[in-house]
Amino acid sequence: MAQVTCSFCGRNKKDVDLMVSGISAHICNFCIDQAYNILGEEAKTKKTTANKPKFKLKKPKELTSYLDQYVIGQEEAKKVLTVAVYNHYKRLQQKDDHDEIKIEKSNIIMVGDTGTGKTYLAKTLAKILEVPFCIADATVLTEAGYVGEDVESILTRLLQSADYNVEAAERGIVYIDELDKIARKSDNPSITRDVSGEGVQQAMLKLLEGTMVNVPPQGGRKHPDQKMITVNTENILFICGGAFDGIARHIGKRMNSQPMGFNKSSDTPQADRENLLQYVTAQDLKAFGLIPELIGRLPVLTHLDPLHKDALKRILTEPKNALVKQYTKLLAMEGVTLTFEDNALDYIVDKAVEYNLGARGLRSICEAIVTDAMYEVPSDDSIKELVIDEAYARSKFDKSKFKRLQVA
Ligand code: ADP
Repeated sequence: MAQVTCSFCGRNKKDVDLMVSGISAHICNFCIDQAYNILGEEAKTKKTTANKPKFKLKKPKELTSYLDQYVIGQEEAKKVLTVAVYNHYKRLQQKDDHDEIKIEKSNIIMVGDTGTGKTYLAKTLAKILEVPFCIADATVLTEAGYVGEDVESILTRLLQSADYNVEAAERGIVYIDELDKIARKSDNPSITRDVSGEGVQQAMLKLLEGTMVNVPPQGGRKHPDQKMITVNTENILFICGGAFDGIARHIGKRMNSQPMGFNKSSDTPQADRENLLQYVTAQDLKAFGLIPELIGRLPVLTHLDPLHKDALKRILTEPKNALVKQYTKLLAMEGVTLTFEDNALDYIVDKAVEYNLGARGLRSICEAIVTDAMYEVPSDDSIKELVIDEAYARSKFDKSKFKRLQVA
């Protein structure tokens, strides 16, 4: 009779405790043990790779075409942002190959009137990239020790948005709104300390550049005994935004003293007085009251264009989740066909401009117009169609408490 041996290690059946036989092979208990361990190891490595935050790097043009589906206009900002974001994440993929060329971080600063899409751009980018995202308001930040939130609190929010996955948070995006509100009041560094402005700017420096920060997971100082989580901010992309009211004056002043300016007699290119923000430079930010160290850590500077009537009208109808599309869908769910006539759209846009609300006002104006219909339609089966024309829009708007609400 042929000897039964393990097909893997060759041990004889009499030298092992157990020999399992298959169709044309055998395996001993030693090899089963070993194979089992290999399986375990394999599963472990698979798990760690699966746990790594998933990340999709898209090219600038690809990113822009996604942004275009949501954000109207702002071509310049889109281009600058997508390039900066692409380079930032390329930097993260850079192998630590002791190369002398170190790609530096490209934190971004956006200057643009309120309601022109600064937050929306940052938020949409984070959504496209599928990275954790949070919005922080610079006005609530104070230097450590003062009443208010420490700059570390920004990271608490990012951690929360990453479900406390530190590794994911460490490659997230933070949008810091109203950066202009922490500008110091004058360009001259004063001897007396400026608690609300310069101090906060100083406190933000390390965070923006990259440092290990102990973050209270619950935020605030209300839970003094909470265990801190250490977050490395080196690969977090910070995007700052602000309206910088009055910066156009600095830009205008600077340009008047430069060859390209308002001087009509010369044959140098003429500046567009209507949109001076497009010429914003780091120098203007300094004149506005940002400290040079902070400007240095926000090397990518871009602006947002004011939204004129045609852009506002497009915002009402074109984006993927445009307001008109949303209301139409809501009423379609009730079996009602909703149509906004062109003159009604113009009316809504005119009101948004009149109240100086930018795109942010479109929503509340539309609400004032459609709320009555939204109230009646679900309980009235006889309504199959609703056409909103200018007369309808005006009658509803005039009746609304809009003015009182909006003045607040
Ligand atoms: P801000 O510039 O003050 O940060 P937001 O980004 O918060 O303005 O804009 C407010 C809202 O207005 C957004 O949530 C979005 O719905 C709308 N919006 C603003 N700008 C645009 C734009 N360019 N395209 C589409 N929607 C916009």
